[in-house]
Amino acid sequence: MPDELIAKNAHYLQDHNLSQIGHAPRKHTAIVTCMDCRLVQMFEDALELERGDAVELRTAGATISEPERANANNDLVRSLAGAIYLLGVRKVMVIGHTDCGLSHINPVALTASMQALGVNPQQLIDEQHLGDVDGLMRWLGAFHDVHVNVQEVVQVLRNSPYLPRIPIHGFVIDINSGKLTLVDRDQVGITA
Ligand SMILES: [Zn+2]
Repeated sequence: MPDELIAKNAHYLQDHNLSQIGHAPRKHTAIVTCMDCRLVQMFEDALELERGDAVELRTAGATISEPERANANNDLVRSLAGAIYLLGVRKVMVIGHTDCGLSHINPVALTASMQALGVNPQQLIDEQHLGDVDGLMRWLGAFHDVHVNVQEVVQVLRNSPYLPRIPIHGFVIDINSGKLTLVDRDQVGITA
């Protein structure tokens, strides 16, 4: 697998010559989305994003798991802080997607998969004080409704003490068609 990647890269380098550009995103935008493999390439195409346009942050479910929401202090917030304070980002788009894996986790399949890979779910639940399998699901970031999740994440980010109050909008993208729907338009920055 590593060799295959190296070979593919050598092939790529044969006919690509990238221009050197700065690391501050031209559109002053940070985009938070999911790690779903179906978003690869399709996502940038659907938003007509070019190299250098925006900062992209991907987490499982484009979400902040429930235990980390209280003080809005996790790796996503840290990355956004870097993008805002150091890279000139002035607006954030949180983009969940339909048919997200985190919206239909089967707890039985989850714990069976952990056991098959040598991790004891009950031991983890006990040691990390997760309570029960539902707590394990909350730690993983499971949610029921992608629209509600996007609105909740947007709220957490707007209220984070680590971030300035810049516009933070919420969207859902259709994983099959690429159609983008606005679900939460931030009123900050809109003058009456
Ligand atoms: Zn997803």
